[in-house]
Amino acid sequence: MIEGWSSSHASRVNGEVADIARGFEQSRSRGQVNFRGELAAKHGLLMLYGDPGGFVGVDEKGRVFDVNGDWVATEAQEGSAAYWLALGKLKHMEGFEGLAPAKPSAVPVCPQCGGRGYIAENPRAYCSVCLGHGWINASIDVTELFGPPIDAASWTENVKTMVSKATPKN
Ligand SMILES: [Zn+2]
Repeated sequence: MIEGWSSSHASRVNGEVADIARGFEQSRSRGQVNFRGELAAKHGLLMLYGDPGGFVGVDEKGRVFDVNGDWVATEAQEGSAAYWLALGKLKHMEGFEGLAPAKPSAVPVCPQCGGRGYIAENPRAYCSVCLGHGWINASIDVTELFGPPIDAASWTENVKTMVSKATPKN
């Protein structure tokens, strides 16, 4: 559970997950794939990150889960890249700002994003070097999360696999 997680965080996540899960039912009835909705409906998770390898989400109890391409959820432990990424994302979400640890004074700002935590042109685009924190935590192995770079064909193939394993269309 994320340190500092409070009942207000819990009710925010709970409310958002309920809304998103309702949206999932609507998209499902239209035969659409909705990863964010599926994560909410299936696992009670608010999606914080998704790519063709899987997802990272948080539940109302402040537990972080890593969900693989087969939609299997595993709780991410503190010190893992998925957990660190979740904190980095929450840092930029209204009402959740205080959960991520502050930058230690001796650590320089992230050279890729200049300390913002996201790429300047798009506030929703995470900095993949510091995972949204604006500084690099040397104890986190980012490659654990993203793995080696994949080519466009494998990327497309992974997306197709995830879609095929999502809830079948009505
Ligand atoms: Zn950065």
